[in-house]
Amino acid sequence: MRLRNISGSRDVIANSPYVVKEAQQYRGNWADVFGNTNPVYVEVGMGKGQFLHTLASLHPECNYVGIEKYSSVLLRAIQKLEADELSNIRLLRMEAEEIVSVFGKGEAAGIYLNFSDPWPKDRHAKRRLPSAEFLARYDEIVADGGKIEFKTDNRALFDFAVEELARSAWKAEVITYDLHADEKLMQGNVMTEYEEKFSAAGSRICKYVLVRR
Ligand code: SAM
Repeated sequence: MRLRNISGSRDVIANSPYVVKEAQQYRGNWADVFGNTNPVYVEVGMGKGQFLHTLASLHPECNYVGIEKYSSVLLRAIQKLEADELSNIRLLRMEAEEIVSVFGKGEAAGIYLNFSDPWPKDRHAKRRLPSAEFLARYDEIVADGGKIEFKTDNRALFDFAVEELARSAWKAEVITYDLHADEKLMQGNVMTEYEEKFSAAGSRICKYVLVRR
């Protein structure tokens, strides 16, 4: 997702209390950012933030951090938050490749990947957010017992993600190729923007939940 460059978005981001600037300084100290020691869940590639926003409203006992690389997209997430004033959500404008510079060992309670960019060319496989390279980064920052959840409508990307598990510290606890047809897995399912769009268009949604081996 990349939106037209919106003038003033950099200023809005710079002045928003929801956006953590120079986040590396909080590595190991996210409790200081939130003012509590509640678990911190991270969505990598959050887009306009609908999923995280809904989770933060439903679970005030947890903290949520959204990572997004484009200012124009982050701006949309900020605008929505300013209407609701949630205290348990923060946003980072950054490349997810740098995630281990922002979270310390075991500092994330879990990771969400939703409708990640497919990067279809083989030479770009390492950029895919569920690649083995990224799974190793998540392994550094996810707490014991923490999970990685991934949803996508893109079957090729999902098949790739499942194959990558063999080169990782993770195994699938749950796996489905048609989430919306599974009544049990749909309990408590929070829809992302892309999920709403693609499921309404008839696409099947794949999902896995990973735990450490
Ligand atoms: N998660 C949202 C959803 O399900 O509706 C948005 C999905 S959108 C296809 C993927 C988002 O991830 C885009 O906004 C994109 O800019 C962001 N993204 C992709 N790769 C990223 C990376 N390496 N670091 C940070 N953000 C990334």
